[in-house]
Formats: sequence, C-alpha cells, structure tokens
Amino acid sequence: MTILDGKKLSNQIKEEIAAEVASIKERGEKVPHLAAVLVGNDGASLTYVGSKVRSCERIGFKSTLKHLPEETTEDELLTVVSQLNDDPDIDGYIVQLPLPKHIDEEKVLLAVHPDKDVDGFHPANFGKMALDMETFIPATPYGIMEMLRRYEVETEGKHAVVIGRSHIVGRPISILLSRKGKPGNATVTLCHSRTKDIKAITREADIIVSALGIPHFLKADMVKDGAVIIDVGITRVPDPGRERGYYITGDVDFKAVSQKASYITPVPGGVGPMTIAMLLKNTLLARERHSGR
Ligand code: NAP
Repeated sequence: MTILDGKKLSNQIKEEIAAEVASIKERGEKVPHLAAVLVGNDGASLTYVGSKVRSCERIGFKSTLKHLPEETTEDELLTVVSQLNDDPDIDGYIVQLPLPKHIDEEKVLLAVHPDKDVDGFHPANFGKMALDMETFIPATPYGIMEMLRRYEVETEGKHAVVIGRSHIVGRPISILLSRKGKPGNATVTLCHSRTKDIKAITREADIIVSALGIPHFLKADMVKDGAVIIDVGITRVPDPGRERGYYITGDVDFKAVSQKASYITPVPGGVGPMTIAMLLKNTLLARERHSGR
C-alpha cells in the first residue's frame, strides 16, 4: 500500500512555483499577485485563507487579504469584487466560501471576472473544463488529478466511483476523471445522498473519491482489495481534550481501509495541502494570461 503524500507533493509543487517566481523576478517582471476575500469570522475559513496567504508569501507571490465584517451587505461585497476585477495589479482572486446567509453566493461568483477566477467556479471556466479546454480547474479536483499523475496511478479503463456531487469537488472530479487524457479515461459513477445501495457500487470500484463530509463513512467492507482511495473529507470533530478543541478527520475509516487499498490519501496531509498548491498554480496561469505570454 502506498500513501499518497499530499504534504510532500504540495511542497515539491510549491518549490517548482517558487523557482518560476525567482526567474520572473530576475527578468524584472511583475510577480503573481493573489487576493482573497473573506467575509466574517468562520473558524475554518479563517484557517484556510490564512494558510493560502502564508503560502503566497513563502513562494514569493504578492498577496492581499480583504477581510470584511460579517454584516457586509451583498452590494458592498459586489463593489469589492468589481474593484478587484478592475485592479490591474491583481492577477487572480478567490472569494472564500461559505458566505454569510444574507449574501447570494451565486450572484457573487457570477460577478468574478472569469480571467481572474483562480478557483475555477465561474460557469465560463467550469464549462471550458467540461469541454476539455484550457482553463482554471477548481483547486481540489485539480489537486487530486495532479496527485494521480505524479504518483502514476493508472486511471484508464478503471471504474471510478465519486461520492458527493458538489460544484466544488464531486461534480468536477467526476468530469475530470472521465475526460480523454492522462489521468482520465475512467468510467465514472457519481453517487449522492439519493443513491441506493452505495456499498454495492463502491465494492465494484477500482478508484473511490469520497467527498461528502461524514467522518468514517467509507468502511473496509465497502472497498475491494487493491482499490485506490482518495479521501477529500475534512471534518472538525469536537475534542475538549485537545488544545484546539477539535481534531480533523476524513470520510474514510483509514485504519481499516488502508489494509485493503493499493493507494490511499491520509487526512490531514492528503488532498488538503494539494488544494492550496493548485490554487497557486492557477494564479501563475492567470499571471501568464494577463501578461500575454
Ligand atoms: P457538500 O457541498 O456538503 O456536498 C456533499 C455531498 O455529499 C452532496 O452531494 C451530498 O448529496 C453527498 N452526501 C451527503 N450525505 C451522503 C450520503 N449519506 N451518501 C451519499 N452521499 C451523500 O460538500 P463539499 O463542499 O463537496 O465537501 C465535502 C467534504 O470535503 C467536506 O468534508 C469538506 O470539508 C471537504 N472539502 C475538502 C477540501 C480539501 O481541500 N481537501 C476542499 C473542499 C471540501 P446531495 O447532493 O444529494 O445532498
């Protein structure tokens, strides 16, 4: 069994990007600039945005954090989005989700200029992805594909089962795995909360991508010997015994499932760190587009 080590791989990718930034600087060109918009003080969002900003600094990108109060109105947020669209120094930006309930997320995502949409959530980019055109691929599924590519995990002709159909993980990874290419060329089954007898489906899977957010959902008796297991789930389980007051776990019963898997991602240290690395890669792509190279 091989652990798909997202921490190690993401550090390698960040080093590659840092080397690229160093040569951009040497040429006297503008370094990539990523901005993040955060509304409110959701604990998990603060952690995610914080590590995105720190990663930017470490690899030599410029970064800007727009931290707005919880009571920011939809119009105020749309004004910030419009300013970021117009700011020539910003190559790409993200609006951290979830947004407070009084703001229409769809309206905000549609307002992000597709050329700066490094999260790849705008319909123009999502559509291009589905049509095999070059574009920003949502960072989490992009990270999974990069992991499969660099570990040379065979996907062609395999039966891949994706659990979860969210717009940011399940749906896009099901499209990417079924695309022509390497990795790709898999036969994909997409499961969700209305799927009947999920166990019968996962037991037939060569590759399972679990993205539902239920701790230890995927048990050993749902997996066949030799399956490739990608655990996207991140759940904070309250634990007063720990300093932080919680611990993080995935969707997979790692201890038991890893006995049967050929490859498996740990949580933490699997898909999570890859997500940040791929966001940085998308920002580099945005900068290349803006500078017309
Ligand atoms: P989401 O929007 O809540 O979607 C969850 C999906 O799981 C839905 O499609 C839902 O089905 C399905 N589902 C729920 N219960 C189910 C069940 N009992 N059987 C089968 N399917 C079920 O979640 P998300 O945003 O995709 O995130 C999923 C998990 O990944 C979360 O733990 C999140 O924190 C984590 N995540 C991690 C990263 C990373 O970087 N590693 C990035 C993003 C998200 P319906 O559509 O029918 O409701």
